[in-house]
Amino acid sequence: MEFPKKLKFGRKIFKIKLIPGLADKYDSLDGRISWDESEIQINSNLTKESQIETMTHEMFHAIMHRVGRLQSSENPEQIAETMTIGLLDMLHENPWLIDMWKEII
Ligand SMILES: [Zn+2]
Repeated sequence: MEFPKKLKFGRKIFKIKLIPGLADKYDSLDGRISWDESEIQINSNLTKESQIETMTHEMFHAIMHRVGRLQSSENPEQIAETMTIGLLDMLHENPWLIDMWKEII
């Protein structure tokens, strides 16, 4: 499957860009999301598997931004990473979940 180019969420359409050597001014980055610019950037130097994990991580940032029920003391990076690892492990062991969800979407 070719990497998706758009993610629709919260009345927005995020552009997904694969960028070689993605970095901010301090460090290289696996990915990042800008809600205001409706853009998700993924480091294309990552393996395909890591790109998908990073896409999932950025998706959780989008959900946290939109749903916004977090306490200020909670760390969004830890939450996004916890949910990413948990969701992907859960789906790995129970791929039927995807078919179950398809019934309500
Ligand atoms: Zn993050």
